[in-house]
Amino acid sequence: MNYIDPHIHMISRTTDDYQRMVFAGCAAISEPAFWAGFDRGTAGGFRDYFRHLTEVEPRRAALYGIKHYCWLCINAKEAENVALSREVIKLIPEFLKMSNVLGIGEIGLNKNTANEATIFQEHLDLAMKTDELVLIHTPHLEDKYKGTRMIVDMLRNDKRVKPHRVCIDHVEEHTVRLALDHGFWCGMTLYPITKCTPSRSADILEMVGPERVMVNSAGDWGHSDPLAVPALIQEMKRRGHSEDTIGRVVYRNPLEFWKQSNNWRG
Ligand SMILES: [Zn+2]
Repeated sequence: MNYIDPHIHMISRTTDDYQRMVFAGCAAISEPAFWAGFDRGTAGGFRDYFRHLTEVEPRRAALYGIKHYCWLCINAKEAENVALSREVIKLIPEFLKMSNVLGIGEIGLNKNTANEATIFQEHLDLAMKTDELVLIHTPHLEDKYKGTRMIVDMLRNDKRVKPHRVCIDHVEEHTVRLALDHGFWCGMTLYPITKCTPSRSADILEMVGPERVMVNSAGDWGHSDPLAVPALIQEMKRRGHSEDTIGRVVYRNPLEFWKQSNNWRG
């Protein structure tokens, strides 16, 4: 079955991963801008990173027949440095015209600090002024609910935000309704052992249904599985879900969300 991984950081993965992903049916991916495993010191470092996301990685993915899209921002972990964040936000508009850019992301909160909230809102302002899609990271720490609540409040306070143009990622049992009930799309991130495993994710899908839900591996520098989406496909098949329902979650939903992007040409 063909699938899309709408959240994977290929800069941190090997060519072997690309090979295995295409063997498993991966047709397309999107790579949100994120933390590099260390805090970058200059805006120039981010300019090079944006070139990687918009020029280098799409070419690498194409060698394996996989379409590569991306999202641009300075992530929440580095947003504590407000001055640097503002310099990086100024760099973003010139890259938005690149053909593989889907929007602004993954913006969000990490430790739910005031500085993170300030930079989140400044990214959101840029996204509204340029009419871009938005991809949102919610915190992994014990205050995921509080962080998600703060994010939903900031989104709802900005009257320009259209919920169907926003995806709230890393949802779990206690935050999935917050995203869906307010009209947002949501992403479930599958982890090999901790947090949301493929079977927990299948439970959540059985709870809320497939509408406006997508799943991803969030593969990165840490312990993660670039084949997490095929693992969920397997789990859903084992439980007797139809090909149509599975295909909706792992392929048609992310595509429907992406198709709203300004640069979309298919
Ligand atoms: Zn990520």
